[in-house]
Amino acid sequence: MIVVLSGGVGAARLLRVLRRAAPDEEIVAVVNVGDDLVLHGLTICPDLDTIAYTLAGLSNDETGWGRRDESWRVMDELATLGGDAWFRLGDRDLATHLYRSQRLAEGATKTTVTAELVERWGVPVRLLPVTDDPVRTRFSTAIGPLSFQEYFVRHRHDVTVADVVVEGAAVARPTAEVVAALDAARRVVVAPSNPVISIGPLLAVHGVRDLVAARRDDVVAVSPLIGGRALKGPADRLLRELGFGTGHAAVASAYEGLLGRLVIDESDAAEADVLRSGGLEVTVCPTLMGDPDRDARLAAAVLG
Ligand code: GDP
Ligand code: CA
Repeated sequence: MIVVLSGGVGAARLLRVLRRAAPDEEIVAVVNVGDDLVLHGLTICPDLDTIAYTLAGLSNDETGWGRRDESWRVMDELATLGGDAWFRLGDRDLATHLYRSQRLAEGATKTTVTAELVERWGVPVRLLPVTDDPVRTRFSTAIGPLSFQEYFVRHRHDVTVADVVVEGAAVARPTAEVVAALDAARRVVVAPSNPVISIGPLLAVHGVRDLVAARRDDVVAVSPLIGGRALKGPADRLLRELGFGTGHAAVASAYEGLLGRLVIDESDAAEADVLRSGGLEVTVCPTLMGDPDRDARLAAAVLG
């Protein structure tokens, strides 16, 4: 089994790449739920949905979020009513949140509801929310405390962050499925997701960091930075603002004690020696996904 610690887009893209090199039955994504929110009374799980939509071929790859062939009649009507329309939920996407919320209200766990949705959409790999307990990533910022989506969507992550807190993480427990997967995995892959706000909240769930550390020799991370910058989103900025530094060394530092190996982009080969002198194993290969030949090399580097 190959367990992939996952946020949203970066993880969805890596999972697509890994499917080229490993059978679907072997791939399990353990997914962050720190971005999850309740809006309009509906439970929304952005990272789980991003991965499921992407792997089922339903995602909108232009926006990087939501469904393709989407319409916005509900949001438009909500806006005329003066409702909260800044977090855009398309009509098809809303059906997902209606289904999930109803099942949760009936007593199903997030793990069960995810399995149901994944089956219906034909998602080829297993998706496990890291916990069924409530956790919420929150930000202390220059303009005051913000929820995840206030920070990320409303303010477009363009505010200075002093601290990231994952509410509920200390009492949340990983699911039995997650514990078993981390135990049995022949490889634990850390996706090139945001280390601070995607992977950090997942590791913060009580016990998960220790489970990953126990597998350290088999843990390989793909860095989300290329040329010192995130391809999209605030990973580089947050690593700097929270004191981890810059470049791949910042990623290594955010994952201190957890990594057997770090995969960095070929254009950053000059950083490898310094990382290695810190005792880390480093693989240099193409990490910008989207080209079949490069993707095959990345998959081989991660799984080899
Ligand atoms: P979100 O939860 O949807 O915001 O996304 P994630 O946290 O999973 O991933 C965001 C990160 O993915 C960003 O920091 C990007 O740099 C990284 N990312 C996206 N595509 C690629 C890629 O092709 N290669 C690498 N190395 N990183 C990528
Ligand atoms: Ca996310």
